[in-house]
Amino acid sequence: MQVQPETTSTPKSLKGEPFDFWEQPAVIAPNNFKFKSLSNWAFNISVGCSHACRFCYVPSSSTVKQGPTLKKFNVEDPDEEWGDYSLLRPWDEKKFVSSLKKAELKPVSMLKPDGNRAVIFCSTTDAYQTFRASTPTKAKLLNSSAATLVRKALETIRDQSTLNVRILTRSPLAKRDFDLFKSFGKRLIFGMSLPTLRHDLSRIYEPKAPAPLKRLETLQAAKTYGLNIYVAMAPTYPECDEADLRATLAAIKKLNPITIFHEPINIRAENVARIKNHAKELGVSVNTAVFADRNAWRQYALNSLMLVQRLAAEFKLDHCLHLWPDSQLKSKNCFISLRDLKRAQTKLTTHEKHRHAEEDARYYEKEYLPWLNGWWQRISEWPR
Ligand code: SF4
Repeated sequence: MQVQPETTSTPKSLKGEPFDFWEQPAVIAPNNFKFKSLSNWAFNISVGCSHACRFCYVPSSSTVKQGPTLKKFNVEDPDEEWGDYSLLRPWDEKKFVSSLKKAELKPVSMLKPDGNRAVIFCSTTDAYQTFRASTPTKAKLLNSSAATLVRKALETIRDQSTLNVRILTRSPLAKRDFDLFKSFGKRLIFGMSLPTLRHDLSRIYEPKAPAPLKRLETLQAAKTYGLNIYVAMAPTYPECDEADLRATLAAIKKLNPITIFHEPINIRAENVARIKNHAKELGVSVNTAVFADRNAWRQYALNSLMLVQRLAAEFKLDHCLHLWPDSQLKSKNCFISLRDLKRAQTKLTTHEKHRHAEEDARYYEKEYLPWLNGWWQRISEWPR
């Protein structure tokens, strides 16, 4: 099906509010993923995201650069106000097709193979968010424009290219496009972020995103619909203990996903302050001690990654597990293995210290680095 050429310009009367239309149209652009094996390109429908995840890494990168322009929309601090603004990019058929052609013609030899020649919807926002505008009329316009934008982009990719598509969302609104997803056959995979099934934790860390059980139900619906699905347990929170991770993995196993991604929360820009402030507003305490310094974070991150790896093996899901260890875990300077921390609590002789240092150096080179590299080089599954 060919999409009719159309250009949606920004309505002048709607300028200047945090939920509004952005000036630049939505196009396909190369992404900046490192080690994630999610896609080669991204299609982002907006600047900002209404899900308001407190840990979100996006404000530390692309959005902050938009600071001066965001001021025109009454956004003073893009990081602190994250989740309270989302500026929808308009559809411009000509520009979109031009970006699509550029991606389509890129020789495979020049692409990172872990991207699976896919476009992700979305990497710095969510294609299925709700625009909470100041008036019902404006909200209706923004939400219907977003729905049209996503469908037009998908139809054009399907009909005018051979690229693959990866949908990653937190919202059941994606159900409205299941028919379109299905029409891609093996060229599209559908996934949701599902770090926990606990509603109480979700309210703290992802306050405006749909509840985890709604996401699980959407994944189940996608499976029943015949879509290829994957799940991102990302990021899991410091409070996600073994019982919680077990419950999440048990639910995911029933979905028979092609890949399960996992990562803990990484420290990015002001995200720890955002988590702390929000917990304070809610009057609840969260375990932010794990972000107190590099070693505390490292211990939480490694514990979390290794626990999920162990549980996935127990659930016989290790074949589709794809961990995302952060690149900062490579640093030898901050390398303290879990056994090192234990040792730090005991008094050691000089000889023992020397022996342990040698053992640690060997462990780092022969086991730890290959473990990290194994994940970083892993190519995530794609239906064949
Ligand atoms: S859904 Fe994604 S982009 Fe949106 S706030 Fe959450 S983590 Fe950030």
